Amino acid sequence: MAEFPTSARVVIIGGGAVGASALYHLAKAGWTDAVLLEKNELTAGSTWHAAGNVPTFSSSWSIMNMQRYSAQLYRGLGEVVDYPMNYHVTGSVRLGHSAERLREFQRVVGMGRYQGMDLDILGPDDVRSRYPFLETHDLAGALYDPYDGDIDPAQLTQALAKGARALGARIERFCPATGVRREGDEWVVQTPKGDIRCEIVVNAAGYYAREVGKWFGRDVPMMVMSHQYMLFDSIPELAQWTDEVGHKLPLLRDVDSSYYLRQEKMGFNLGPYERNCRAHWVTKDDPFPQDFSFQLFPDDLERLEWYIADAMARVPLLEKAALTKVINGPIPYTPDGNPLIGPMPGVPNAFEACVFTFGICQAGGAGKVLAEWVTEGATEWDMWSCDPRRFTGFEDQDYCVKKGMEVYGHEYAIGFPHHAWPEGRDKKLSVVHERTRALGAVYGAYNGWERALWYARPGDDTSEEGTQTWRREGPWFSAVREECLAVRDAAGILDLPGFSRFRISGAGTVAWLTRQITGKVPAIGRLGLGYFADDKGRIVTEMSISRIAEDEVLLITAATAQSHDRDWLQRHLDPGLTFREETDLWSCQILTGPKSRAILAEVTMADLTKPWLTWQEAEIGGARVLLMRVSFAGELGWEIHSRTEDTASVWEIVMRAGTGHGLRPFGMFALNSLRIEKGYRAWKGDLSTDYTVLQGGLDRFVDWTKPEFRGKAALAAEQQRGVTKRFVSLTAEVGDCDPPYMSTLWHNGDVVGETTSAYWGHRTGACVALGMLRADLAEPGKALEIEVFGTRYPAVVQGDGPIWDPKNERIRA
Ligand SMILES: Cc1cc2nc3c(=O)[nH]c(=O)nc-3n(C[C@H](O)[C@H](O)[C@H](O)COP(=O)(O)OP(=O)(O)OC[C@H]3O[C@@H](n4cnc5c(N)ncnc54)[C@H](O)[C@@H]3O)c2cc1C
Repeated sequence: MAEFPTSARVVIIGGGAVGASALYHLAKAGWTDAVLLEKNELTAGSTWHAAGNVPTFSSSWSIMNMQRYSAQLYRGLGEVVDYPMNYHVTGSVRLGHSAERLREFQRVVGMGRYQGMDLDILGPDDVRSRYPFLETHDLAGALYDPYDGDIDPAQLTQALAKGARALGARIERFCPATGVRREGDEWVVQTPKGDIRCEIVVNAAGYYAREVGKWFGRDVPMMVMSHQYMLFDSIPELAQWTDEVGHKLPLLRDVDSSYYLRQEKMGFNLGPYERNCRAHWVTKDDPFPQDFSFQLFPDDLERLEWYIADAMARVPLLEKAALTKVINGPIPYTPDGNPLIGPMPGVPNAFEACVFTFGICQAGGAGKVLAEWVTEGATEWDMWSCDPRRFTGFEDQDYCVKKGMEVYGHEYAIGFPHHAWPEGRDKKLSVVHERTRALGAVYGAYNGWERALWYARPGDDTSEEGTQTWRREGPWFSAVREECLAVRDAAGILDLPGFSRFRISGAGTVAWLTRQITGKVPAIGRLGLGYFADDKGRIVTEMSISRIAEDEVLLITAATAQSHDRDWLQRHLDPGLTFREETDLWSCQILTGPKSRAILAEVTMADLTKPWLTWQEAEIGGARVLLMRVSFAGELGWEIHSRTEDTASVWEIVMRAGTGHGLRPFGMFALNSLRIEKGYRAWKGDLSTDYTVLQGGLDRFVDWTKPEFRGKAALAAEQQRGVTKRFVSLTAEVGDCDPPYMSTLWHNGDVVGETTSAYWGHRTGACVALGMLRADLAEPGKALEIEVFGTRYPAVVQGDGPIWDPKNERIRA
């Protein structure tokens, strides 16, 4: 037997499907000096009892990428690693009971086809031809996914393990990691068999991830649900049909009733996501077990009764079968239901690949993504949806449990663009929250901060149901229009708590920042946008940079980017520079519109003739504020940054002064409309690592004269080759819904690009989309088509500048 490894480049903690896939992909990337530790036998956690469904369906572009990759990998894996396994590609039908559900399907079909998958929509009769035992009288249609199927999760894990071992990686079974310590630049992973020194550690401990995270000082945002499926005995009719046609039934998902039903041999497997679901290990009388390897929870049939009855009504054949077995196992959830794959926030050389709710169908893609993070520090696809840094530390256990249960109970719900689930709210409130509430604010959470989405007028429908629509003209529409027009004609104020703020100072600050961003660091007294690229020239993040002093800058960035941008800055910070986070110390009001100068003039002595993109210190009502002359709404305007304790009085003074000038509060929906008309990009929609800085149309933020900056070589090479894709603004005539993220752009019958955001522009009276288009077509006036929910509509590429105020005359006024 080989000796126990005392050192390795990478140690992975956890031998479920995900850990094994991570090891396999690391080894494939040439990182064979890797060891996986499994406390029991491989698959002992959630993997051994998983149902093994492998859907490609997702309404998230990045997760669909991951699942598509998995399905492709699994098809060939048995042969590649010489480990035959049961993988049945049966296809699936996903039933739709409503027109809204069919729109969701159309959207996913559009994305799937763009990823090269032949997904399709079926009418009720077509569904029956694929699934003869089905009641279809109440269906609107179905989505057909020919790539769906099921795999044996234990065989999958063993196949990945075999492939990894064959390439030289090692697996130590029955060898728990019991702790870690940092020694110099190394991690030392402790086990009963001895310590392993390594460069990098990966937490792939499944539902134990929180326990493992604690060793790193990390509170992994997660909780554990009980999840069940039921196995039913053989049914002669099903056996006969299978025999006749020579294949199994496609996997059935009745998503509006919230279950899947799969043919299992000649019987069925029924698996619901129940509304009346149950969390485990979250109360004192149900403590987290030291070891739960290969164990299950007791059956809990009461919770399942409604689903059994519904499935029997849908597929009456099921009534003929006896229920033979229930599997009830632990399944971990993050607060948004997506896994954690990527850098462990704030911890050097540590990564996470854990908290998977769909870890069998995602394991393949997750292994690829994790291996890219480890070996290259960046991933092929933008994976923000799964990045551990999307959580920022406010997510306490109570929040995790409530959100986890909510996601589980709505696992198959439609993700409408204006809808948010109600749990876990009011975590962080602005100091003027009660005042904006009194004005009718309807809120949404941004990194836990409650921000006004829109201001309801008496009689407006503010119910949650009112937001469950794809339609543009929901109950908020006319109020948002009024807000936008007030910003256009007079002035609007948006209370914006939660901006992430980092102050960097010390000799060499500017030289350092100059190497980090693609463009120029602004002069003292000025501010500007800085774009941070990765080594491939792709857009990592955008921050506003205010030059405070010779060697001091204030970086302000999105609330949701707090952990991500802090992590990026700290990882790349030169030693000797001082880094200070000031996120909680300040708050912000956006005051914008042609009357904003007159309003400010009533409350401050500041020089309001200072040009666009300058900042100055000023006083409002005795409080010291920073006035930044910039507006994401694209009108004359200032951001008023005040100390948190002064913010309420500043807000009141400005509101009072605005009364005579038509000032009104506005919300994030209006801001979205205004910024899209102005062609201003939003982070992780329009700006992501899926695009380079040049593709993003950010050429004017690239200073080629600088001797070096991160990404320069890649961007220079791209420039020389010719940029193949270009950022564009489009106007589109698209019916009653605005195009969702990743709607495809068409020209002469070919897909030539995609949208990254779109909204109704109330100033321009048009649906405006931002997107990426094949470079040769990115010319003003070019007529295209845009596919929205399966229908193609006319769209026109707009000129070089933004649609609204192309010469920036209004912001410079
Ligand atoms: C009833 C049920 C049905 C499911 N059906 C599906 C499905 O159809 N499709 C799908 O995609 N997903 C399904 N899932 C979810 C799926 O099972 C999980 O997402 C997946 O197994 C997670 O894999 P993992 O490798 O992340 O975690 P796990 O399989 O839990 O692996 C983690 C491993 O880490 C080990 N470990 C923990 N701590 C340590 C330590 N300190 N040292 C060493 N080792 C350690 C554990 O022993 C365990 O083996 C289902 C789940 C349940 C409960």
